[in-house]
Amino acid sequence: MPALGTHLTYAPAPSRAETREQLSKATYDLLVIGGGILGISTAWHAAQSGLRVALVDAGDFAGATSSASSKLLHGGLRYLQTGAVKLVAENHFERRAVSRQVAPHLANPLTFYLPVYKGGPH
Ligand SMILES: Cc1cc2nc3c(=O)[nH]c(=O)nc-3n(C[C@H](O)[C@H](O)[C@H](O)COP(=O)(O)OP(=O)(O)OC[C@H]3O[C@@H](n4cnc5c(N)ncnc54)[C@H](O)[C@@H]3O)c2cc1C
Repeated sequence: MPALGTHLTYAPAPSRAETREQLSKATYDLLVIGGGILGISTAWHAAQSGLRVALVDAGDFAGATSSASSKLLHGGLRYLQTGAVKLVAENHFERRAVSRQVAPHLANPLTFYLPVYKGGPH
């Protein structure tokens, strides 16, 4: 990491046309279509494994649903009201795996109030 006070120079980001040109000339092992959290993590894991990976998006990276996430590992409790018990059980299995094995340094218990309004859906 550069020390404070170091002068950094940044190359301007290539234009969309330049990126397309680069994509058409190079050879990749994997093309990931869609740069939301799933596409980005797929591309990251593949690159970590040594593959040459290209990632493209019709709009912008993390510009769709992933931009709206509240970043909670909530386990999908709200799906209980539709009776999707198997889905919730699966989500909680994943939630435990992330918080205990995959990224315990990123997952922290968070206490918060859940407002229940008179006449509301819950
Ligand atoms: C308000 C809100 C709150 C949420 N809160 C949580 C939460 O607390 N915890 C949680 O776990 N989940 C939460 N979620 C759900 C979570 O955000 C989504 O499950 C997740 O972001 C989906 O990621 P994705 O990569 O599948 O899709 P996206 O983020 O939608 O990415 C798909 C990408 O593919 C691109 N694309 C689509 N078609 C093409 C194409 N033909 N060619 C090229 N690119 C294409 C799109 O432009 C987009 O960028 C929340 C969702 C919302 C809306």
